[in-house]
Amino acid sequence: MRHIPLGGTGIQVSEVGFGGIPIIRLDSGQAQRVVRHALDRGVNFIDTAHMYLDSEEKIGKAVAGRRQEVVLASKTIQRQGGPALEQLETSLRRIGTDHIELYQFHQVSQDADLDALLAPSGAYEALSKARDAGKIGHLGISSHNLAMAVRLVETGLFATIQFPLNFIETAALDELIPKARAAGMAYLAMKPFAGGMIDSARTAFAYLRQHPDCIPLPGFDTIEGVDEVLDLYESPNALDEEARTGMERIVGELGGRFCHRCEYCQPCPQGVRITPAMMYRVVSIRMSPRTAASFSAVAMESVRQCVDCGECLEKCPYGLPIPEMLREHLELYDAHRLLPKP
Ligand code: SF4
Ligand code: SF4
Repeated sequence: MRHIPLGGTGIQVSEVGFGGIPIIRLDSGQAQRVVRHALDRGVNFIDTAHMYLDSEEKIGKAVAGRRQEVVLASKTIQRQGGPALEQLETSLRRIGTDHIELYQFHQVSQDADLDALLAPSGAYEALSKARDAGKIGHLGISSHNLAMAVRLVETGLFATIQFPLNFIETAALDELIPKARAAGMAYLAMKPFAGGMIDSARTAFAYLRQHPDCIPLPGFDTIEGVDEVLDLYESPNALDEEARTGMERIVGELGGRFCHRCEYCQPCPQGVRITPAMMYRVVSIRMSPRTAASFSAVAMESVRQCVDCGECLEKCPYGLPIPEMLREHLELYDAHRLLPKP
């Protein structure tokens, strides 16, 4: 496994990392085996988040005794100083460490998020002090909103930016990645499988390996899945006719009904959490249906407040039929939440 610089941090990480969401559907023993297998094959960079249920705890157990060989990243969704520090302490405790190499501000997509983050006594000030005290190596950021992500890079405050990149979601290529590169920031490629919509590792990584300084963070839940991706990295890249045909097929299948998570449709005057609810179908593919229903309950319950006013339709740059898709996803969610427990 090739190791590359994590931007300007001085840290070397494997050219492909380990995304920490899918292990939440495994029991602890299985999760630890999958993580350790990835480590045995040369992956040394693991990304998780405070909000990924028990992911931090499982990763902590998996890396126990090997902590020195692993570069860990997690995230806080909090914007205020006190709560952000509390989440940092919880993350450290769950992982079983006193120091994390990268701690990121999670899903900073709206102006209000950034304003709160940077306000006096906000999360940035608090976590900068935690960094100075040695609890955090570097501060990073993640976003789903392209204009905001560019703005975040331009602040010069963060060591890494995490944003989607895959052959369906290519918006970062024009401005965001070049700016991050010029600023010496690492680009962490979120959603290498487009949140479950790309069903072929060969096709997904044939595309991503054209951008070798962008570090993909695929989520794994099987040893076979780890091997499938890491085997690709041990061979020359094959961006051939088969891969190109596979990309065209998937882009065609998604048609015009793919939420890009740009969040331009928000806020909804009725308080509907549109973006996570628009992702429900994909989330239910990635997780088991019952886990997805539990994971997305807050967002999906908010869909019941939709009054079909159509305000969001005007704001969606992709022309998605949002209220119609929300109704479909709510039906799916209701079916999933009523499934009997295994
Ligand atoms: S149509 Fe529904 S989701 Fe869209 S803005 Fe109106 S109430 Fe909110
Ligand atoms: S529904 Fe449209 S505007 Fe809203 S996040 Fe998805 S792509 Fe963006």
